[in-house]
Order: sequence, then structure tokens, then C-alpha cells
Amino acid sequence: MMVAWPRVRPRAIRWALAAACAPCLAGHAQVVRYGVMEDSARAMLRAAWHDDSAQTERAYCVRRARIVARVISPAKIDSIFHVLEVRPAHVDTASPNHVSFSCHAGTPELHTHTPATCVSDDPKYCVRGGPEAYSCQPSRDDYEKLIARGDEFAIIQCDRVAFRFYYPSEYVAPGVHDSTSRSRPHGAGRERSSLHDSHPAASREHLGN
Ligand SMILES: [Zn+2]
Repeated sequence: MMVAWPRVRPRAIRWALAAACAPCLAGHAQVVRYGVMEDSARAMLRAAWHDDSAQTERAYCVRRARIVARVISPAKIDSIFHVLEVRPAHVDTASPNHVSFSCHAGTPELHTHTPATCVSDDPKYCVRGGPEAYSCQPSRDDYEKLIARGDEFAIIQCDRVAFRFYYPSEYVAPGVHDSTSRSRPHGAGRERSSLHDSHPAASREHLGN
């Protein structure tokens, strides 16, 4: 179920709950997650992409997103993450292999992986293509930051048209199943329950900074 929400005041961060559904969302259903980059966000990121080998990673904050749960059965739920708007993030430092930035708490993050392979953090030692180019694999640092922040997803753009969503559940200790709050292998981050544990909602919209 999709519900349109008015934008709230600038810089406010709000998770709005809509369409209370489902005791079925609580519990321990098996969840498959899908990321969808909607038109305006996708167009902006495509336009900003370039193929230079001597570039640094870039970063964005997810300004608007909507999370929709589709109940397949009591034991199976699809969770669809629609990203509606992104904005460039304030970047502290950046290299061809790393970007240091931070979005406001609760605002999911996106960063780029470049189309180059680099033998050091100096862009002059980067060549276009090669084994590290167009890598859509989150690094260990990427996962650790996601877990520490407590966000429900993050995104890598690794080509003009390629977006890789990644989730805390992909990075869990052995024997621990599928929850941001329960996995937390490095003990970092604030307390926050995952969507499916805490909110009996079928659709939520996020408005970040
Ligand atoms: Zn990365």
C-alpha cells in the first residue's frame, strides 16, 4: 500500500507510519528486500556520473524514501525500499577509494564506487577499468558504518545506471538472524529496532535532511 505524504519542515527527519496492517509483520518472517531508485533520484545520479579515472568517491543523503511491506504469506514478506529524492552530502574527505561523510541520523546514505582501479589513494595512480572498477560490493567499512548508524539500508552507485542497495541483514554474525538491533556485531550505534520488529505498518515514508 502506498500513501503519499506531504513534505515536512526542512531538515526535519520523520518516519511516518501509514496503513497499520499486520501483526503478520512482527515475528520472524523471512524477508526479501528490493531497492528501487525512482525517476527523479535516478535521473539526478545519472547526470552526475562521469567516467574519469581520476575521480574521488562522492556521497549523497537520501532525502525521501518510502518503505513498503508486501505480505506474501505469514512466513514471507517482501520489503520494497523506494528512494524518491537524494541530495549531495557534505563531504569531509574523499579519495578514489573512500569518502568520509555523514548524513543526519536516520537519513540513509548513498556513495559512489568509481569506474577505475587505483594502486593508491592518489588519483594519478588510477586507471579506468580494471579489477576494481564498477564494484558494487559494499566494503567491510561500508557495512560497519551502516550497522553503526542503524539505518535500514544504504546504496552504492557503481555505474551510471547501476545502484546496489545493501542492508544490515547482509552483515550478521553467525547464528544471528535478520535484525539490525539484534545483529550489531561491533556493538556500535544507537538503539533502533528494525522495520519488521517494531512497526506494524505496511508503508512508511522517510523524510530526511
Ligand atoms: Zn564503499
